[in-house]
Amino acid sequence: MSKPKVDPASRKVLAYSVETNDPEESNIQFATSNAAARRQGADNIGTDFGSVSCRRAHWADQYAGQRFIPAKAYIDAGWWFGCNHCGARCDSDASYWDEETETDIALDLVFDGRVVYCSADCKAGHEAEVTARNARFEEFKVRVAAERPGVTFTEFTGGYPWCGNKGLFTFPGAQYGGSVSDSEESTELKWYVAQGDKAAWDYFIAEQSAT
Ligand SMILES: [Zn+2]
Repeated sequence: MSKPKVDPASRKVLAYSVETNDPEESNIQFATSNAAARRQGADNIGTDFGSVSCRRAHWADQYAGQRFIPAKAYIDAGWWFGCNHCGARCDSDASYWDEETETDIALDLVFDGRVVYCSADCKAGHEAEVTARNARFEEFKVRVAAERPGVTFTEFTGGYPWCGNKGLFTFPGAQYGGSVSDSEESTELKWYVAQGDKAAWDYFIAEQSAT
């Protein structure tokens, strides 16, 4: 007896919902079998195969091979998300209790690709935050270059979604180089050089201030 040969191309990738008893851990996996989806989903959650259940999620089949499943598709299928700005629960019948009129008012959800906002105000708030952080990042680059002329920056990280900004640099005589950062709470710059470069750094700073 031999198993019938399965043409790999004929095995369709389907969507499965992998779940534990914590609804927040549920995730959609695309696979050619229930067992494969279950293994992927368990890995994704960080638990073992036996702790998850797996069932078909027909609604998500159309997103196989796509970069992401839109938040709207999840919500239409009964899932829920936190608002991408304030964290409020957004689901298909999300509403809030209005104290003044003593009525339940439906939330006007705003979808944006893989995220959802509980209101247009929250979407605008999020966009303002992104813009502000990116602007701070640009200012940071200008500021660090002005504060320590003569160092060569090799890499910058910052802007949205980072909380703080950071630059890596090297300078004449350095073996390891250093970093400079600010933080969300403060715009004060923190300069750091590797222990092995301390002497070279002190010499560099002395040279700089002498000119
Ligand atoms: Zn919100």
